[in-house]
Amino acid sequence: MSQTHEKLTKEKLGDMPAEEFRRYGHELIDWIANYFEHIEEFPVLAQIEPGDLKSQLPSTPPEHGESMEAILSDVDRLIVPALTHWSHPSFFAYFATSTSAPGIFGELLSAAFDVKSMLWRTSPASTELEEVTLDWLRQMLGLDAGMSGFIYDTASVSSMHAIAAAREGVEQRIREEGMSGRRDLPLLRVYASEQAHSSIDKGIITLGLGQRSLRKIPTDKDFRMDPQALADAIDEDKRNGILPFCIVATVGTTSTSSIDPVSDIIPISEKHAMWLHVDAAYGGSAAIVPEMRHILEGCQRADSLVLNPHKWLFTPFDLSVLYCRHLDLLRRAFSLVPEYLRTPEQEKVRSGSDYGVQLGRRFRALKLWMIIRYFGHEGLAARIREHCRLAQLFASWIDASTDWELMAPTPFALVCFRACPLIKEEKDEVRAKRLDALNEAIMHGVNATGKALLSHTKLNDKLTLRLSIGNIRTTEKHVIQVWDLLNEQLKKLAG
Ligand code: PLP
Repeated sequence: MSQTHEKLTKEKLGDMPAEEFRRYGHELIDWIANYFEHIEEFPVLAQIEPGDLKSQLPSTPPEHGESMEAILSDVDRLIVPALTHWSHPSFFAYFATSTSAPGIFGELLSAAFDVKSMLWRTSPASTELEEVTLDWLRQMLGLDAGMSGFIYDTASVSSMHAIAAAREGVEQRIREEGMSGRRDLPLLRVYASEQAHSSIDKGIITLGLGQRSLRKIPTDKDFRMDPQALADAIDEDKRNGILPFCIVATVGTTSTSSIDPVSDIIPISEKHAMWLHVDAAYGGSAAIVPEMRHILEGCQRADSLVLNPHKWLFTPFDLSVLYCRHLDLLRRAFSLVPEYLRTPEQEKVRSGSDYGVQLGRRFRALKLWMIIRYFGHEGLAARIREHCRLAQLFASWIDASTDWELMAPTPFALVCFRACPLIKEEKDEVRAKRLDALNEAIMHGVNATGKALLSHTKLNDKLTLRLSIGNIRTTEKHVIQVWDLLNEQLKKLAG
């Protein structure tokens, strides 16, 4: 090897030198600590127009490596202004969520280990830590030991896998023969309420069942699935030669956080030998609060349940947990071991790739393990309890005001409400349209201040504002502030 080549190899190959890594690593941790300390100085919603960031970035990749100084300075200059700050304590939109320090450390370590959790031997730590951590979480939730946990990225993917396992259970040789071109296969049907999350529709589309396989069941005045309507729909489908195989109940629906009556749905699923999957992506975490355990009533007899620690357990995105009573069916649906992945211990151990579409999986359990250890069951429960208290407080202000009204019950930490000032208008439709427009304008007005972020939904055809409290940094001060902002907007817009 020539001397020049040796020099070049030393300089240009290999990773960042350890000293540099250490220096920038410390700098970055300082940067993150400052970010959290000053996060309230940023507008919650990114104040940029579509395309603004793209137009400031070079359209071709750098030919030569750049310094970390230059890269980090562009994070400040370009990336941060283009962020909508989910970690801001006044982020009340969608489902408010947040990362936490132990979760960030978990992510950092996981990126360093860069494990592909596919076979036990490629990732013994990830495989076994996942089993233990999810069993801890199961105990915290009050679920029985028959439920085994498995980590996916998102609830959308967890639910899709649950429905695939349910389909495997109908013994129609779908894994082997597929569904298309089969005259012997009846229409397979899944039932979920009108309020179920769109991920259920998407899961069904992905599995090739087709949207007509999903029957939406009406809800009651509190947006909960009507069990009688469910039973009637199943009976009717059976009379028509359709094969009902799965019910999806939701604990904490996306629009209102309503809770389907799982205890009343269970006897229906059992009568028809159907799989009951519970989408507790949002609401499930609240069951770790001892006095809120009842929200999972009936779920002890479900076949599967999804819950998202990345929603309300202070876990950096992404981490979704599927608890399943029949991992054997999930395995039967997805296990496929080519020669190059065969290992001597495969019959004795769990291998992540046996339970889903993915081969390699991130070491996600590490962050959840660190979070549960750092905060403890008690600490996590205290934070969720406080979020629920703040939501009740906000709901009580709405309730006490003649200018505002609640649009749905508040079983968790999501308040659905709208402004309803007196509008003198004879025609109901005109009044309804004006109220919708007013509420939309109030929301945009609050969001434009950059001091808080709200989102909306439609309930009974009425535009409804949603205030979701789920950020680890949110305190009463922030809830008071958004209440003031809402009233300022109302005054400005409705006089
Ligand atoms: N289920 C419910 C009830 C949800 O509210 C959401 C998202 O808000 C999802 C599923 C989808 O979650 P994910 O983004 O993890 O797929």
